[in-house]
Amino acid sequence: MNDVCYRWPGRASFALKIPEFRLAPAETVLLLGESGSGKSTLLSLICGTILAQSGTVCVADTDIALLSAGKRDRFRAEQVGLIFQQFNLLPFASVRDNILLPLRFASGRAERVPMPKAEASRLCRDLGLPDDIMHTKAGALSVGQQQRIAAARALIGTPPLIVADEPTSSLDAATQATFLDLLFAQSEAHGTTVLMVSHDARLADHFDRVIHMTDIAQTTREAA
Ligand code: ADP
Ligand code: MG
Repeated sequence: MNDVCYRWPGRASFALKIPEFRLAPAETVLLLGESGSGKSTLLSLICGTILAQSGTVCVADTDIALLSAGKRDRFRAEQVGLIFQQFNLLPFASVRDNILLPLRFASGRAERVPMPKAEASRLCRDLGLPDDIMHTKAGALSVGQQQRIAAARALIGTPPLIVADEPTSSLDAATQATFLDLLFAQSEAHGTTVLMVSHDARLADHFDRVIHMTDIAQTTREAA
């Protein structure tokens, strides 16, 4: 990111400015910051779900603002495994269909998964989920289980970048450890870059680099 400035439409009081922010390939980075400091906004800018009013955001050497909306959606599906704060699973679709969803939009990721059903099962097993969960509707699962399904969906087909927005906040300590182990195992095995947002500074030891929003961004907010 270079000289990025973003304001939410109709929200003149909030502005996020990022002079420079870089992630190196295969780097794992924890981004800390208080609520409302613009962490989720920053992740949306990297994913290209929103576009900066000025400055440039490049992912894998591609300036995402230069892509058409459709190309940008495909580019995101290919390059980024996303784990949202609210998991955005399809509640009426099965666990398996939710996990396999990105492969439908990202042919490069699909090519890396010759046996999709087996891979979905493996990811679930590694995340400590029972194998018979595959045909359950995602909406029928606990919040912690849904978050692990969201993680499996982000990891399948090994996208080069994983972006995770407070993914461990609904997990207990043991599940959180399993989740982080899998994330870092994938990073190491495939050179995946990981950018994870949290307000939990205790996670810091697991990451190559820890940054605080105040280190990289100037956030203008309305007076409280
Ligand atoms: P954080 O993730 O650090 O808590 P956010 O990026 O979610 O912070 O929010 C930063 C600011 O942007 C807040 O003032 C928030 O209200 C505003 N904001 C976030 N999402 C939207 C949106 N979709 N529309 C308008 N304003 C938003
Ligand atoms: Mg947020």
